[in-house]
Amino acid sequence: MIKYDPKSLKAEEFINDEEIKETLKYADENKDNLELVDKIIEKAKQRKGLSHREASVLLACEDKERIEKMYNLAEQIKKDFYGNRIVMFAPLYLSNYCVNGCLYCPYHSKNKNIPRKKLTQEEVKNEVIALQDMGHKRLAIEAGEDPVNNPIEYILDCIKTIYSIKHKNGAIRRVNVNIAATTVENYRKLKEAGIGTYILFQETYHKESYEYLHPTGPKHNYAYHTEAMDRAMEGGIDDVGIGVLFGLDKYRYEFAGLLMHAEHLEAVHGVGPHTISLPRVKKADDIDPTDFDNSLSDDMFCKIAACIRIAVPYTGMIISTRETPEIREKIIRLGVSQISGGSRTSVGGYCEEERPHDTEQFDVSDNRTLDEVVNWLMRAGYIPSFCTACYREGRTGDRFMSLCKSGQIQNCCHPNALMTLKEFLMDYASPDTKEIGEKLIEKEIDNIPKDSVKDIVRERLVKIENGERDFRF
Ligand code: SAM
Repeated sequence: MIKYDPKSLKAEEFINDEEIKETLKYADENKDNLELVDKIIEKAKQRKGLSHREASVLLACEDKERIEKMYNLAEQIKKDFYGNRIVMFAPLYLSNYCVNGCLYCPYHSKNKNIPRKKLTQEEVKNEVIALQDMGHKRLAIEAGEDPVNNPIEYILDCIKTIYSIKHKNGAIRRVNVNIAATTVENYRKLKEAGIGTYILFQETYHKESYEYLHPTGPKHNYAYHTEAMDRAMEGGIDDVGIGVLFGLDKYRYEFAGLLMHAEHLEAVHGVGPHTISLPRVKKADDIDPTDFDNSLSDDMFCKIAACIRIAVPYTGMIISTRETPEIREKIIRLGVSQISGGSRTSVGGYCEEERPHDTEQFDVSDNRTLDEVVNWLMRAGYIPSFCTACYREGRTGDRFMSLCKSGQIQNCCHPNALMTLKEFLMDYASPDTKEIGEKLIEKEIDNIPKDSVKDIVRERLVKIENGERDFRF
């Protein structure tokens, strides 16, 4: 039997099948033990997080009153740590060439239906201009795995191109990277290229399913994939983003695996994941999500988000346009801190008038423009933020976490959100969005705790009106 050890660097020891099964058994045995459930909720109120076992008990609990308490607590924790800010980003698909055989992804190498495409640097530039013209400042670049067509040098060239483009008042100030697991040396190169977060979804923590779902290609190697974040951190990347593709395997197993992964990163590197993404498998070219038969209800999806918020209060949570506006509205309230908007999931999609379908990685369920998403968020009481300050100020890894833990975030992230929203309103917003946004900024200035910071923000807002850009705390 393989022994569970969160400090081990071996995949099967820190994501330990036996421990997950024991956890699920413990959760089943205790889901009606309301005394224990209450104790765990009380512990969660201290905002120091929960273990995967404790969180699994909460996820399994079906008592309506307790679930309501969990939702309220998740909402409160989100307010305490993230305020009412929602950070905006967009994915940028560079290449759909891929040598892997992932059964759920239309980019799998056997799919002959889709045209294969890789952006030239000129095309990257045009995509970035289109994204800047929407108002985006933060991107997540995406690519299939193909050492010949998309080697690390290609990815690095694209990053350089993206950062170099300054179109009108636009700029991409943070590039997050979602590419296949790679070597320490390549992670070091990504770090040197100035990336924000390195994102890699585990897809499933269940080893057997993982191997079945990735029958061919380098991604078949469970250990290499699962240990990628340790190599990324060894290569100097402080901020890593984890996630599973919900729907592939049983959600309870994945939930425990995700939290064990977070505990492992904290135990070994002293800092947990920067973000957790919550993608669900979607229909795509030759992919039918019902083939996987592990889909979860919208209600359970929301409960997972709430339990993650409670279990890892300092970790950002991301929801993409895989979800409908209705689900996004519900789940944002429960703890999501970042969403994408105006996304195109096809290679070269931003330069097309209409959303192209032939190279899409998955069907988008929220088709609104960025302006519409920003408008909707503000009407719902949120501050859409285009802030990228933390990593540019060196507040990554444990430095970001200590800012978060100290509660100082309100003197820093809140004003940054207001100033970057102001930039958006000046440069890209529709008249209606601008009107709502100006009123929101005026109201939200009062929520900056320090008077001295308030004064500086007022001064800077005037400077932004006069054409200056890129202020930050
Ligand atoms: N190729 C890289 C890798 O192997 O990790 C990452 C990039 S891939 C473009 C980004 C993510 O999209 C994958 O990790 C997977 O979770 C998700 N994805 C793939 N097929 C999907 C589908 N049919 N529906 C929803 N998400 C999907």
